[in-house]
Amino acid sequence: MDIINVKGNTFCIDTGMSYIPFYKLNKKEIIMLDTGWKKGEREGIEEVLEKNNFKVAAILNSHAHIDHIGNNSYLKEKYNCVIAMSAYEAHICSSAVNLKLYYQSQTLKDVKEHYGHMVCKTDIMIEEDQESITLCGADFKIIHTPGHSPAHICIITPDDAAYLGDCLISYEVMEGAKMPYAYILSEDMKSKAKLYDLNCSKYVVAHKGIYDNIKKLIDDNMDFYESRAMRIYEVIDGSMTMEDIMKVVIKSFNIRVTNAYRYAFIQRMLTSYVEYLYEIEKLKLIMDNGFLKYTK
Ligand SMILES: [Zn+2]
Repeated sequence: MDIINVKGNTFCIDTGMSYIPFYKLNKKEIIMLDTGWKKGEREGIEEVLEKNNFKVAAILNSHAHIDHIGNNSYLKEKYNCVIAMSAYEAHICSSAVNLKLYYQSQTLKDVKEHYGHMVCKTDIMIEEDQESITLCGADFKIIHTPGHSPAHICIITPDDAAYLGDCLISYEVMEGAKMPYAYILSEDMKSKAKLYDLNCSKYVVAHKGIYDNIKKLIDDNMDFYESRAMRIYEVIDGSMTMEDIMKVVIKSFNIRVTNAYRYAFIQRMLTSYVEYLYEIEKLKLIMDNGFLKYTK
């Protein structure tokens, strides 16, 4: 894994899969903005930290997804660092029972087994109306961008470099993504539009890119998510249950569903698109012989 200098004391670790930014407080101490996956990234991240003699003084998370908080509790234990994130996201990952709010279709036993490592204790909760946070003497600005996750935030470092987390995705990811995830797509679209107002000198997208200007990337992201929603709309024929829609989408998008986790994952992604189509009144909900169905 390489380290890239974004600007001034703002750097990021290129894990291959994502960019994990960090802010250098001094020669030794850093604040990590997210901590990556446990599976496939922990070893590499640890190696980078050790090789550079870094000590993690704090972790500031964009949101509580598995690929962003995967090493929170591990690093907290190792470096005795503080963790800060949005209060609502902090509650979600505060226990396995709360994580089940997100992994609704999986049993608590499964959640514990597969996602238990995500459970961590957040020391500093960022409130909904909070616009900045000071960690170890460094001031970070907070932009609230809910939608991709319930209380996703973008973080601007003291170097005026903005970490956008998963609020935007890169062109590379757009090329490969069949249905990029959003918890509430309509809110996510509003948050993407909110980024037009930013005027930072650098922007870091978690999956993954560094940009000087993001105006076109915002346009293209919004068009991309909208076009995915419309592709789903196009395969809906007559009146269909969510399962019916899932069946045609899997076929038409050529998605491989090999196990129950993958099924639950695809279901979570699809639901937000179908809900979006319902919210923008492209779809109607009807009751048909006791079944809830979507129709145009
Ligand atoms: Zn995410």
